[in-house]
Amino acid sequence: MPPSPSEPSRRGVLAGAAALAGSGTVLSAAAPSARAESRARPSRPVVFRTVRPFGAKRPVDLTVVDGRITDEQAPEDAEVIDGGGRIALPALVDAHIHPDKTAWGGTWMSRKPADGIADLAAQDVEVFHGQRRPVAERAYGLMAHAVTRGTRAMRAHADIAPAYGLTCVEGVAHARERLRHALDVQIVAFPQHGVVRAPGTAALLKEAARSGSVDFIGGIDPIGFDQALDEQLDLVFGLADRYGVGVDIHLHDRGEKGLTALRGIIDRTRTLSLRGRVTVSHVFCLPGLSDAELARVAGDLGELDIALTTVAPSESLVLPIARLKEHGVRVGLGSDGVRDAWSPFGNADMLHRAHLLGWVDDVRLDSELAACYEAGSHGGSDVLRLPRADLSPGSPADFLLVSGECLPQVVVDLPARDLVVHGGRVVARDGELR
Ligand SMILES: [Zn+2]
Repeated sequence: MPPSPSEPSRRGVLAGAAALAGSGTVLSAAAPSARAESRARPSRPVVFRTVRPFGAKRPVDLTVVDGRITDEQAPEDAEVIDGGGRIALPALVDAHIHPDKTAWGGTWMSRKPADGIADLAAQDVEVFHGQRRPVAERAYGLMAHAVTRGTRAMRAHADIAPAYGLTCVEGVAHARERLRHALDVQIVAFPQHGVVRAPGTAALLKEAARSGSVDFIGGIDPIGFDQALDEQLDLVFGLADRYGVGVDIHLHDRGEKGLTALRGIIDRTRTLSLRGRVTVSHVFCLPGLSDAELARVAGDLGELDIALTTVAPSESLVLPIARLKEHGVRVGLGSDGVRDAWSPFGNADMLHRAHLLGWVDDVRLDSELAACYEAGSHGGSDVLRLPRADLSPGSPADFLLVSGECLPQVVVDLPARDLVVHGGRVVARDGELR
């Protein structure tokens, strides 16, 4: 396991690291952390020669011992890998993705019209039965692709419903096991068909939480979709409290419906002392708030350390990350569904997602482009309770090497990921898994 996420990182040795020097969110060691079996085995020391951290002008050598960056002298038996002057950047974290739903790697899948969540969820079931490859294969294909694009960790939502039983959770867990050397994965049991409106789901959620096969219990629009605000939230939070798992709830409801649900989440987090263990995804009710209204809600979120995720879907629905961070709110960036029944789009490439975040936020400044990258890297690390891979001594050696001029240009131009390193080991080269 990695050291406690609350361990302060030693910073500042490497030139250029300040470009992404984060807000220094204080992390609680009490929250669930990603599985990190990949770091269990010490590997041979490695020196990555002539790389430019964060696009610094002067190249340096990055030395890795026991999977972590060190500023000490490289051991004599260290392996040497030439970075060729490439830019070294923190590996990325996908804070919200659905690998079980994807048709990635298969033939083109045409989609039918759909009217709302129930329709789309029904089409998920058709995909589940219609795809030749089982969930474990499809999820593995997408998750492996994410690794080749520089993703070090992800929070994977897996559908749980009477239509599937625990098959989707088991499929994603199988893919996680195959990629344990390259990717840290947290799994959310996601009641896509509703908790109350799909009888039998509650028992499946309980089974998933009780058996330890998931790290989080999910929820979905307790008012707009499930139409059972208290019943859903009481059940989800009750399971989290009883079995020691986290909560990660999809909240698409906008306006008063969304805010009422969010208040229900905040109240239960406080009452059950689940501070630091709760995430709310999408949260479309927040972006339209006035500064004063947002400050009030964000104050509660910050106080209870409730994290948020956004997939930067549009200018009007993307979360105001900078303003939320002012209140100490952890915010991660994610892919959401990738080439599934919901959308033909998506590619599980978090550098591309950082680019999209900049696009929908209409950013211009270098500092704003760097902040988009930080949302896709440190933002997700904070949400998943992983130590930031900030290239400082002591940090996990999870980084990618790209050809380029500087970080803002990389966010705009999306260069190929020439090398992806996880725990000091090269896990992908030139877009191929190693
Ligand atoms: Zn989702």
